Amino acid sequence: MILGVHAWVARGLDRVLGEAREHETSALQTLPYRRHHVPGADELSSFRAERAALGLRILLVHSRYAPALASSHEALRARSVRHLTEELRLAAGLGGDAYVVHAGPYSPGSDAEAGIRLFAESVARAVGESGFRGPVLVENVPGGGRRIGGSLEDLARILDALSARVAAAACLDTAHAWAAGYELSTAEGALRFVARAHRLLGDRVRAFHLNDSRALFHSHRESHWHLGRGRLGLEGLKVLLEREEYADVPAILETPKEPGADAENLKVARALSRLAR
Ligand SMILES: [Zn+2]
Ligand SMILES: [Zn+2]
Repeated sequence: MILGVHAWVARGLDRVLGEAREHETSALQTLPYRRHHVPGADELSSFRAERAALGLRILLVHSRYAPALASSHEALRARSVRHLTEELRLAAGLGGDAYVVHAGPYSPGSDAEAGIRLFAESVARAVGESGFRGPVLVENVPGGGRRIGGSLEDLARILDALSARVAAAACLDTAHAWAAGYELSTAEGALRFVARAHRLLGDRVRAFHLNDSRALFHSHRESHWHLGRGRLGLEGLKVLLEREEYADVPAILETPKEPGADAENLKVARALSRLAR
């Protein structure tokens, strides 16, 4: 896997790429804008120029705010689509190679099938209006309740619904998979997860989020934690990092941004496999 970190956009867009430079990673993930500040054309073009000079291979842009893309509530969903369109426009402006999004919950009284259909419509509409050309990566979530995308089956159904209309693939988050009930703490569990991902998603896995978790197994809770220091541990993560078929797939750390933590987590990942670069 091609390792990268999730950059801290709150410090300013001009400092985002510095994180890839500092850690010598070929991949990076960022949010499309920081709170209360949407970058203008000048900021976007200087970001692209700096990225070209740096030679950063893969830039993922993660959605900041699009919570109701699968909602049956027309006005709510329309608002989410408008936000998504704006974020995708910024992702294009940043030169993002792919855009990561969660499906969100379906509405009370509705079901997953209807939610998936609405989500696909929402995303297709936003992509069409935004000018973003990279693939949309749908991320697995901790699942539970009405949340769509906790299972690999959900992701496969979402991608089937989406791919007729837009370029789409999957992003697999290890902490979310753990919370959704995939036993990633053991080598056997990780291998079962890979086998299932192959069967359901084939070559449509285009990114990983590499996180340990403090949450209990199958708890549907999210609590990203430093690699090897949470409940997942390193045995399963090592199996994922050793997979040849994912050698060129970006793997982003979304672990807590404490001082020195990114460097330490990258060191841990790199020590697990020569394929973790
Ligand atoms: Zn995410
Ligand atoms: Zn994630």
